[in-house]
Amino acid sequence: MSYADLDRTQLEELRRALEREYADHCAKGLSLNMARGKPSAAQLELSLPMLDAVNAASELIAQDGTDCRNYGVMDGIAEAKALMGEVMGHEPATVCVFGNSSLNIMFDLVTQGVTHGYLGAAPWKDLDGVKWLCPVPGYDRHFAITESYGIEMIPVALGEDGPDMDEVERLVADDPSIKGIWCVPQYSNPSGIVYSDETVRRLASMTCAADDFRIFWDNAYCVHHLYEERAAHVADIARACEEAGNPDRYFAFASTSKVTFPGAGIAAVAASAANIAEIKARVGIQTVGYDKLNQLRHVRFLHDAQGVAEHMEKHAALLRPKFELVDRMLEDGLADTGCAAWSKPDGGYFVSFDGMPGTAKRTVALAKEAGVTMTGAGATWPHKNDPNDSNIRIAPTLPPLEELEQAMEIFVCCVKLASVEVLLA
Ligand code: PLP
Repeated sequence: MSYADLDRTQLEELRRALEREYADHCAKGLSLNMARGKPSAAQLELSLPMLDAVNAASELIAQDGTDCRNYGVMDGIAEAKALMGEVMGHEPATVCVFGNSSLNIMFDLVTQGVTHGYLGAAPWKDLDGVKWLCPVPGYDRHFAITESYGIEMIPVALGEDGPDMDEVERLVADDPSIKGIWCVPQYSNPSGIVYSDETVRRLASMTCAADDFRIFWDNAYCVHHLYEERAAHVADIARACEEAGNPDRYFAFASTSKVTFPGAGIAAVAASAANIAEIKARVGIQTVGYDKLNQLRHVRFLHDAQGVAEHMEKHAALLRPKFELVDRMLEDGLADTGCAAWSKPDGGYFVSFDGMPGTAKRTVALAKEAGVTMTGAGATWPHKNDPNDSNIRIAPTLPPLEELEQAMEIFVCCVKLASVEVLLA
């Protein structure tokens, strides 16, 4: 029965029952974690053979004769560029393969905008103020980067097809201080939505008051399908920008963090020839070259896009039951209450949950008290400030299935209790 149809007496009775159930959960003394989008131990094991792909007995010379044990080759060995280019859908010549983290590359590129400017434009540090578009709900670590430079973050609603493009176009047309937008175009973190072709076209072709406006195209989940038959295909941002006459507008990113080993994968950026030349010049000052042995190890283990797809199917086999369990438990526990909505992603790492306004912080606090750590409420908004206090990111990948089931049981109880409390307030 929908909670909205209950009178005060019924709600009070329900609260007492939920408080008893909650106390039982607390008494179990559990310690479960659904906070961050990390692969499970079983997923990490899938990539263990990669550690044997490069060893003391291996040929450690790259295709072009580069000795991967030594300094040099700033932008990645050719075979790693070919691999990441194929995976990301970009020409290898437009791709650089760097270190172990795409987020690191994003941070460096925002820094470059602040300190040096892009392609001759004024460094943002010399301007009166810089703003950034932040589709919400979004990825907390993106927001942390722009926040760290004091960039004013403007939330824009993220719908089923991508950001609200009417709003994006309206904002960027008149305001030259808006310098960029965070985008996770495929299986967005956390809502799992996929940008439509029309959204890609509009982002690439919209009129921007700032010549140095950049789309930060973080395609972190480009190969992370849960269901091969429903695999998403996002339009090519490079081609869309070129066709629109804005070839320099995008930086595209991906990594193998959730393909092989987070923190020990390889990360790549793709961009126009002019942007790549500028990136290489900077990186040539930052480092004498990234870890080419790891690049070689990845190429020998994954081979090509087909090899990646086959490997990702093994991940999907481990992840599908978890996402299906989360959906089933939310459906069974909350569908009737009318006080919750959640995403049903076809890929990626998260389920985005929306409770009643004013319940997210309380739900997460109740869960924590009962031994279940969730991503902090509000984390999906700039400055961790969700004005509705309703959105919670569920990260079901890390815990084993049995633990996930226990954690979701507690989460559902906490959502109900927080909702009844709000209705009685
Ligand atoms: N981008 C998105 C959208 C993510 O969700 C994550 C990790 O959760 C990252 C980037 C981190 O990528 P990397 O490990 O390559 O720095």
